[in-house]
Amino acid sequence: MKITEITIRHLKMKLNAPFTTSFGTFTDKDFLLLEAKDEDGTIGWGESVAFHSPWYNEETLQTNWHMLEDFLIPIILNKDLKHPDEVSELFAPIRKNNMAKSTIEGAVWDIYAQQTNQTLASALGGHKNKIEVGISIGIQKSIDDLVLLVDEYVKEGYKRIKVKIKPGWDVDVMRTLREKFLDVAIMADANSAYRLEDAETLKQLDAFDLTMIEQPLASDDIIDHAQLQKMLKTPICLDESIHSVEDARKAVELGSTKIINIKIGRVGGLTEAKKIHDYCEANGIPVWCGGMLESGIGRAHNVALTTLSNFILPGDTAGSSRYWEKDIIEPEVIVENGFIKVPQTAGIGYAVDREAVKSFTAAKKHYK
Ligand SMILES: [Mg+2]
Repeated sequence: MKITEITIRHLKMKLNAPFTTSFGTFTDKDFLLLEAKDEDGTIGWGESVAFHSPWYNEETLQTNWHMLEDFLIPIILNKDLKHPDEVSELFAPIRKNNMAKSTIEGAVWDIYAQQTNQTLASALGGHKNKIEVGISIGIQKSIDDLVLLVDEYVKEGYKRIKVKIKPGWDVDVMRTLREKFLDVAIMADANSAYRLEDAETLKQLDAFDLTMIEQPLASDDIIDHAQLQKMLKTPICLDESIHSVEDARKAVELGSTKIINIKIGRVGGLTEAKKIHDYCEANGIPVWCGGMLESGIGRAHNVALTTLSNFILPGDTAGSSRYWEKDIIEPEVIVENGFIKVPQTAGIGYAVDREAVKSFTAAKKHYK
């Protein structure tokens, strides 16, 4: 492989429903889409999962663009590559900026899979032909609103319901859900809203047989999580705290986590995601694939990764229509009875709708 041209686009896509973060409420999602061209003409696609503002981690759309333009693209352009695993080695001297790194790496994996005439899933070593998916639901105006939503998704066949919690929207919410949905796999994601002093509140959640509680404590912590796990029956799952297979090893050895949520962007790409998967599999830690409101491109990468054998728990990869009026891939990702069929054409397996991409493009720059 030799990447000779790269195009970065800033896309602005209309969300089906407004999305609220600590920086405010958004009706569009802004993100970077990367198109890479090999010298033989093969085109690969990657998506940056960095948000417009730094509420999930320190990266943003603008910091990603800066890292790509000034550091990462110059490293990759016109370099001879035998395998996509070499990309993370080439990027190793640059600290963090994992989402920016992952954006190029994903496109290189797509090209590699096409050139070796296999699906991205099989290039990664995955064998499933369908994957089980769950849904993630934000904080609602009232518990009644939440119950109505959950009921809808359970009827659509989603295999796991994940609910965001925070202090004051936790024990009563989870109790009500458990009472109404006795047989449904339910989990809570706290996005670091608690401190170790809140352990008494979190212990009350043990009564509701939750599949896990995700990232209850600080986003950079693995010490307090180990203390908390000793006090809880419910398994803790780490998300924000894990950026590499080394982080995963330390957290598992300390007993800070019993499950890991793997997000490709957060860990710097598919190669590192696979390493975390393999480490967890060898150590009896189930994993699942988290979502970052991806467009079809990022969603396709998530689908492929989820075909690996230790993705035992349903992930956050919902269908395209959950977030978008119109997605940028064809066909769109469809969920049927809680499953997504893994596409069988080479590469990411979905065609890019160039007209849609064009209509959502707010800015664009070409590098060669
Ligand atoms: Mg999370």
